[in-house]
Amino acid sequence: MAARYRVFSVRVAAVTSLTPSFVRVTLTGDALAEFSSVGLDQRIKIVLPIPGHGFTDLPDGEDWYGAWRALPDAVRNPLRTYTVRSFRPDARELDIDFVAHGDTGPASRWVSSCRVGEELRIVGPAVPDSPAELPTGAAEFDPGTANRILLAGDETAAPAICAILEALDVATVGHVFIEVPTDADRLPVSAPAGVEVRWIARNGATHGVRMTDQVHAWASTVASGPACGDTVELADVDVDEQVLWDIPAAADSRPVYAWIAGEAGCVKELRRHLVRGVGLDRKQVAFMGYWRHGRAEN
Ligand SMILES: Cc1cc2nc3c(=O)[nH]c(=O)nc-3n(C[C@H](O)[C@H](O)[C@H](O)COP(=O)(O)OP(=O)(O)OC[C@H]3O[C@@H](n4cnc5c(N)ncnc54)[C@H](O)[C@@H]3O)c2cc1C
Repeated sequence: MAARYRVFSVRVAAVTSLTPSFVRVTLTGDALAEFSSVGLDQRIKIVLPIPGHGFTDLPDGEDWYGAWRALPDAVRNPLRTYTVRSFRPDARELDIDFVAHGDTGPASRWVSSCRVGEELRIVGPAVPDSPAELPTGAAEFDPGTANRILLAGDETAAPAICAILEALDVATVGHVFIEVPTDADRLPVSAPAGVEVRWIARNGATHGVRMTDQVHAWASTVASGPACGDTVELADVDVDEQVLWDIPAAADSRPVYAWIAGEAGCVKELRRHLVRGVGLDRKQVAFMGYWRHGRAEN
């Protein structure tokens, strides 16, 4: 049985400008005593207030999403997906690192004006009621016994990549490519000595191009190794209509494990190159193309 999802009422405890593009919002509240965190790339939904209305209550439990969808537009709060950057259960505090990308979406708009004490709601897994429930929820990073890893993503994936890096076994070996808007957006993060972390500043270049170049170079180093076999055809994913979310089932034995996330057009190109071009086994790569230039999340 999967972990139970519920709505948590929280309030803003701190707003910290980390870099020109990243704002850390620390949320707190007694409800977080019931929040279940698995770390890594754990995602949650943020329920954003509607100006002049606030929040429409949603039921706890599995039907929260259906209830949300059924609401009239005027009282259906915007939902957006974010990563738990860190959770401190004793303090009942949860950090989310938002990319501030201007006044173009409700989440980015909210983070540019949110204040300490302001109310917010999140939807995430609750601590299990019984041992039969899995104490997990909404995290995808699963390298099994892979002895080499690749993590690649844009700024929206940086919080997940940083949380994963901090949780890796010290013996892990691999490469990490994180594309951020500017040089000033590099974040401090600790990683095992055998993992090379490269922050790639876009500095005005087209989104994803510089990271894609680096991942292609990485792919050329595994191309003739045990991680690659025959190249395979891929069903096309229309990233303007569908979410590109291609996650391998858990596998114990993989020579390489790659995790790639961010803007869907860029992730689609990398999927095509790695699987169809280089022959990387799909069982070794998690592809998550979840936001799209010019399109709101829902
Ligand atoms: C599993 C998962 C985890 C995520 N974790 C994080 C996280 O920890 N931090 C984080 O900042 N984001 C994260 N995201 C991405 C975030 O959900 C999207 O960026 C979301 O679209 C932001 O919502 P919004 O209301 O600001 O913009 P929307 O209303 O969704 O979009 C409005 C406009 O803004 C554009 N836009 C959206 N995001 C960006 C961006 N980053 N840069 C430039 N333009 C953009 C859209 O293309 C659209 O044109 C995650 C997404 C997923 C699926």
